[in-house]
Amino acid sequence: MNPKEQGKTAGLTFRRKRILATLAAVALLLGSLWFAEAFGPKRTPAFSAADRGILVIDPGHGGIDGGAIAYNGVKESELNLSIALKMQQLAAFYGIETRMTRQDESPRTELDSYSEREELAYRADLAEETENSVLISIHQNFFLTSQPSGAQVLYGSGTESRRLGELTHRNLVEALQPTNRRVAAPAPAELYLTSHVSCPVILVECGFLSNLSDLQLLSDPRYQSALAAVLISSFLQYTNAPNL
Ligand SMILES: [Zn+2]
Repeated sequence: MNPKEQGKTAGLTFRRKRILATLAAVALLLGSLWFAEAFGPKRTPAFSAADRGILVIDPGHGGIDGGAIAYNGVKESELNLSIALKMQQLAAFYGIETRMTRQDESPRTELDSYSEREELAYRADLAEETENSVLISIHQNFFLTSQPSGAQVLYGSGTESRRLGELTHRNLVEALQPTNRRVAAPAPAELYLTSHVSCPVILVECGFLSNLSDLQLLSDPRYQSALAAVLISSFLQYTNAPNL
């Protein structure tokens, strides 16, 4: 093994160790949430299980719209869906009611009648029609150069969206990306989904498909599970303590 390969192996081992440490931290976070819920002092929850709200999970893009495409052909829509399905499973475990804007990669409409705007309007309507909803849209970022990396949460207008966005971004950085210096930011007005719903809404850019180490992490099912766990934990934290 030449020094270059040794370096690669060391890098891989380091990455594995980092993922395992991350998973352990997320498991601890989820475990403590569950323990507090099951055995903790019974303070009056701000939201009971019944009125916690319905989590609408939107795996961005899908069907004929693959979203951003990495150099190796990995499609944003597929990564978004994998993370969203893991969120759905975890939510079911915690008794959180969910709606999915899509459940697979199949197109919802015929190819010749597809319109991106109509697809986004369908997703916004689903969140609007769902009573007491909170919308989390999952996306991946892309840039023309490979340098930018890290997650960023964009939030819709209103203090509730901002609170959900800031706490989710903080949790992502603390649990998964301690060197991430990005901050949660208001979603640009031209983003359709975040500006066409009245419920609390965030759009989570989980990482950059244009950055090699982000792409490797995002393609790893264990990292996807860790992301899903942080996002569900953030939803629980948000609905448990509305005044924090
Ligand atoms: Zn996207």
